[in-house]
Amino acid sequence: MPGESPPRILVVGGGIIGCSVARELAVRGCRVTVLERDRVACEATSAAAGILSPQIEADGPSPFLDLGLESLRLYPQFARELTEETGIDPQFDSRGILQVSLTREDEASSGDLLRWQRRAGLPVEELSAGDVTTLEPGLSAALLGGLYFPRGAQVDPVPLSRALALAARRRGAEIREGAAVLNLVGRGGRVVGVEVDGGEILEADLVVLAAGAWSSALLPEVEARVFPVRGQIVVLDSRRPPRAHPIYTPRGYLVHRRDGRVLVGSTSERVGFRKAVTPRSLMRLVAIALALDPALEDAVFATAWSGLRPGTEDGKPLLGEVRPGLLAATGHHRGGILLAPITAALIAELVLRGSTSRDLAPFSPLRSAGSGHAEVAP
Ligand SMILES: Cc1cc2nc3c(=O)[nH]c(=O)nc-3n(C[C@H](O)[C@H](O)[C@H](O)COP(=O)(O)OP(=O)(O)OC[C@H]3O[C@@H](n4cnc5c(N)ncnc54)[C@H](O)[C@@H]3O)c2cc1C
Repeated sequence: MPGESPPRILVVGGGIIGCSVARELAVRGCRVTVLERDRVACEATSAAAGILSPQIEADGPSPFLDLGLESLRLYPQFARELTEETGIDPQFDSRGILQVSLTREDEASSGDLLRWQRRAGLPVEELSAGDVTTLEPGLSAALLGGLYFPRGAQVDPVPLSRALALAARRRGAEIREGAAVLNLVGRGGRVVGVEVDGGEILEADLVVLAAGAWSSALLPEVEARVFPVRGQIVVLDSRRPPRAHPIYTPRGYLVHRRDGRVLVGSTSERVGFRKAVTPRSLMRLVAIALALDPALEDAVFATAWSGLRPGTEDGKPLLGEVRPGLLAATGHHRGGILLAPITAALIAELVLRGSTSRDLAPFSPLRSAGSGHAEVAP
């Protein structure tokens, strides 16, 4: 970043991405203000399950897979530092992830995953049905087998994002809730600030756009659009100690919180900005939960919610310069919790050095929209 005094940075959006970026920049001496139109982490971030699984659902080796693997590698220190800085435990748990097969179709897709991941030298173990129930007793007797990803992990996005916001504040960042950004302010081809609802103009050396599913409203000229992808989650209170691993299938998953809650996710729906829990999805998710873990028949329904993932056509995030003065850190779709540490590190490199240690071309906000699908679950 050119200039001698600490750069002044405005971050638009106070989800996990905005808060991670803000903390990282504040740690490195920048003057940071986060502008969040509502409350910190009130959108996709607090709706997320928190599975950290770059290997699951990946189609093959790619820069995107590498980005996820690198972010996962950063997680233990990320979580530990946050606990030390704030006293809040984000419940990071690295005991791995189980992918199980309930049908021959599940088995076939697990087989494909296993083959290319072994060829790529990634850690993954094939499990018989017996192995699965040894690892997680009481799962359905109908399971055909599964895969164990020892490097998969999980975290609870709610305390995680609370910790990030607190850590950012303690490092000097200002987090303004109830501050909706209406427009970017430009001068001579450069973004020099933002206009906040109410007419206030804030100036900055750089603006980082981290407005999740709403990002494209501020980026009308960018072809790689960000759009909302609704995900619903049902929460059951299992009233028993949590299982050690998230249980994943291509059609849904179970994530166990330490307090006995079981999150059953999720849907992937392009229905615009309509957050809602629908009876059909609720029934489908409950059916998946019971098919995986029959003991959940005696669980108590706790709650259900939906959130809007910041989707992109090719499933990859938008990271990097949009135009002078404006960086994008958005479009993380199904992997924003996973990708928070690496996103923060890369954006900080861009802000402070003007370049990054990792090639960001595949994630350029200026790439053509293209087509494709998400490679990071869930
Ligand atoms: C059901 C579900 C399950 C998921 N599970 C996982 C998972 O297991 N693992 C994983 O890695 N990811 C998961 N995700 C994805 C993850 O939640 C997202 O990728 C991540 O939260 C995106 O973070 P964000 O900060 O970009 O967006 P958000 O959390 O949506 O934050 C964007 C913020 O910007 C604010 N904002 C928007 N417009 C403006 C404006 N004009 N001015 C000011 N503020 C503005 C919003 O109010 C919001 O708070 C899941 C998502 C869902 C919905």
